[in-house]
Amino acid sequence: MNSKLKAGILRQRTELAEWLGGQHMLAFLPALSLAGFWLGGEMTLIAIALGLPALYGITSARRQALDPDGPLPDLIDAAATPDLAQQMIDRALKADVATACVLIEAEGLDTVARRSGDDAAQALRSTLLKRLRGLTRRGDKVVRIGDSRFMVLLGPSIHLDLESLLTLAERVQRTLEEPVSFETGSHYVSVSLGFCGSARLQGEPSGAQLIEAAQTALTEALSHGPSAIRAWSEGMRAERRARKSLLDEVERALTKGQIQPWFQPQLCTSTGRISGVEALARWIHPERGIVPPMEFLGALEQAGQLDRLSEVILQHSLTALRGWDAAGVEIPKVSVNFSDIELRSTHLVDRIKWELDRFGIPASRLGIEVLETVIADSPEGITARNIVGLSQLGCQIDLDDFGTGHASITALRRFTVNRLKIDRSFVTRVDRDEEQRRMLAAVLGLADRLGLETVAEGVESVAEHALLSQLGCDHVQGFGIARPMPADQLADWARHHAQRIAGAQKLGRGAG
Ligand code: C2E
Ligand code: CA
Ligand code: CA
Repeated sequence: MNSKLKAGILRQRTELAEWLGGQHMLAFLPALSLAGFWLGGEMTLIAIALGLPALYGITSARRQALDPDGPLPDLIDAAATPDLAQQMIDRALKADVATACVLIEAEGLDTVARRSGDDAAQALRSTLLKRLRGLTRRGDKVVRIGDSRFMVLLGPSIHLDLESLLTLAERVQRTLEEPVSFETGSHYVSVSLGFCGSARLQGEPSGAQLIEAAQTALTEALSHGPSAIRAWSEGMRAERRARKSLLDEVERALTKGQIQPWFQPQLCTSTGRISGVEALARWIHPERGIVPPMEFLGALEQAGQLDRLSEVILQHSLTALRGWDAAGVEIPKVSVNFSDIELRSTHLVDRIKWELDRFGIPASRLGIEVLETVIADSPEGITARNIVGLSQLGCQIDLDDFGTGHASITALRRFTVNRLKIDRSFVTRVDRDEEQRRMLAAVLGLADRLGLETVAEGVESVAEHALLSQLGCDHVQGFGIARPMPADQLADWARHHAQRIAGAQKLGRGAG
């Protein structure tokens, strides 16, 4: 059914319900109730006597909410927005001018609710709405349409070209992103906007089409966020279709086994031996070749498939570990990356325990890499329970990208972290940059005092490797040692590496 026809049917249904629920019907209430009693008995009498006034109540509230000239409540159901937009379009068409819809998403309200409570989040919503209303003119309609979403329908005007809408969107973003101070402290949100002017749509657009276009623009903004602004364009639909097909393709790739881990070795700085490997997801694409995770993790997340990814990576990693053991290659441990979404899965600990038992591999040979931002943002709840549960199982907890996420020392303790994985930004050029060296020494000193092991990532040169060993970093990983590679190549690399170390030791003994 085309959207115009659908909009027409919807409007007729709404009009019928409004006629039935109109005030005039109340005058007939006694007569209708009596007729109902004669025809259908007591139950019909009760249904009419209670139902008609209730219908009147509902429709009058709805009329109030959608009255183009009346004041709007602060919050309306998103389902009512096409009607509201339609009324605005009708008014604009009558005056032969345009209208526009701006959708606004405030990100960060859930964090405020988690940290400072629901009341603080609610107060923040009210402040944002007030600021938004302060920015608009009399004929504009401003409402909240969800927990963190707001809508502005601009009153009919000739000045709604792309440039002026963009200026308005920027002003809205600036104003809403100003910090809000309550007794609980200062709160910040980041604001993304998507908008569409009715003149941009072909023909006579319906309210539903205008809302859908603004929605598409907002989705696009959110995928480029935080704090992005997008105007609707015809090309967006094609892009969305392409993204949808990537979503389908990546899901199929997972099912077909085209997504697998490659492994990057980590070396112990005091012995030079392999202390473990990190499993990094790769999509072995039949046409595009090796696709890195940053190009498909987002699609897997949108498709709700991250749980399955971690299952696949874990199974391949344990299979590889068993293979290396059988081949007599010494790889003490494999570490896998878990995103915040996977760490919220309720059966995570049981699932991992089951897999370890199935493979007959002790938990101490499995490392779990958790981003520092995840533990900084999840003080309690399921994420904490899962991480502590995995630690109790015997898995090693590595704090990934350490130095980028503001985790507190209490959090390191509560989440039973074993090892800090120092982010590449602290490692690059450490041999040549005095300031960088001081920062790194401070991080290593902190780890030492807390009794935590350290691994530096992104080690690209021999000089960086040497300096990290001198400063007392326990393990190193990076392109300077080896790039990630498939399981069988890692076995060859490990054999060569063992020979190199044995050779160096012999040389050392000979020299001594
Ligand atoms: P990460 O966990 O921080 O992984 C390290 C990334 O740095 C990897 O990129 C690795 O190939 C790259 N790298 C290693 N050594 C060097 C170096 O010396 N120089 C430079 N410039 N880069 C180096 P990759 O494999 O593209 O992975 C990117 C990110 O994707 C990972 O960052 C991780 O956050 C995520 N990821 C990878 N595999 C998985 C997975 O199975 N599950 C989840 N949830 N995330 C994954
Ligand atoms: Ca990692
Ligand atoms: Ca990392």
